[in-house]
Amino acid sequence: MFDNSDSAVSLLKDLIAIPSVNPTDKEVIEGIYGDDSIAEYISHWFRKRSLDVEIQNVSDGCHNVVVHIPGKNRNKCTVFCAHMDTVDIENMKIDPFDPKEIDGRIFGRGSCDDKASLSAMMVAFHAIADNQAPENDLVFLASGGEEFNMRGAEYFINNNSYNIDGVIVGEPTNLRLISAHKGGIRQEIITRGVSAHSSTPELGVNPIYKMAKIINLIEDYSNQLMNSAPHPLLKTETIVCSIVNAGKLSNTIPDECRSVVDWRIHPGKKEKACKEKLYNFLKMNTDADFEFGKTIFTSPMETASDNCMVRKMLKENWKYVSQESPEGATYGTDGSKFYLNNIPAVVIGPGDIAQAHTKDEFVEITQIEKAIEIYKSYISNL
Ligand SMILES: [Zn+2]
Repeated sequence: MFDNSDSAVSLLKDLIAIPSVNPTDKEVIEGIYGDDSIAEYISHWFRKRSLDVEIQNVSDGCHNVVVHIPGKNRNKCTVFCAHMDTVDIENMKIDPFDPKEIDGRIFGRGSCDDKASLSAMMVAFHAIADNQAPENDLVFLASGGEEFNMRGAEYFINNNSYNIDGVIVGEPTNLRLISAHKGGIRQEIITRGVSAHSSTPELGVNPIYKMAKIINLIEDYSNQLMNSAPHPLLKTETIVCSIVNAGKLSNTIPDECRSVVDWRIHPGKKEKACKEKLYNFLKMNTDADFEFGKTIFTSPMETASDNCMVRKMLKENWKYVSQESPEGATYGTDGSKFYLNNIPAVVIGPGDIAQAHTKDEFVEITQIEKAIEIYKSYISNL
């Protein structure tokens, strides 16, 4: 039944053996960081099989590999997308780059997130390319930079000439179909003070006390969100204070305090409006002066349950999982960048998100075999 399993497994092992750790905000990209080598491997793999490949240079250590299979109808294009980069390897209990096959599982960094989806999509694409032209244009995007700021997907969207009408994002969903996930706003908040010796606090102004008021308000805001209307697939929004930094010496009042709050937002919410809402809430409820620093925004994603991609994909994965309607996810994906550009996206792929980023990351081989069949069958029925 699974005539591609051998090649998918050996392909996955090859992909794991090529380190492609996301450098996040490192200035020098070397060693295990960056995706140059894996992008080269994937493009070579497709070229050897006579497929049309483009490598996009997104930034230092960040690339996209784009594979195009022309369809009979060039006015529509389905994109299959999986990311090449992985999270870091700190505290791993297994050799991250020496893939091991044990009891039907493949172990290694990225085995689950996201090289299982990468290898399944690659094998499915190769199989489809051997047949007659598909109904619509097909593009496979091996994206870079997903684990930090999804800049690969963003670059692809801004630099492509395809008529994209739908995107299948491969991430470890246990082959379940995800049509929505939250977005996030990570907002730095700064309070300023006046430094003084701790034995004469009356000569200073303590920014930590100001920040304490802000943090109490964030907790109030969190309670409000918990009691607000839940999204049908995503429950309620959440907000937490996740970082607080101030002071270096125990006998000195510092001159500033910085915190970060992490607000997970529902689809439809925009960065500017959310920031304003949070700022006004804090301003209205405290006399402490504060300012907003850096903001990191990731978009939510939502595709309507009656979208044709959702309906078609639910027919395909039904062979392996019993799922009648699409679900929501707690994590973000490249799909959010497409959603921001009004392109519908769904997420489905092999492996369990519980194993992603872990110290002994693995994926079940049968998950990959089933994913290949789902992707192939979906393309055949476009
Ligand atoms: Zn991922």
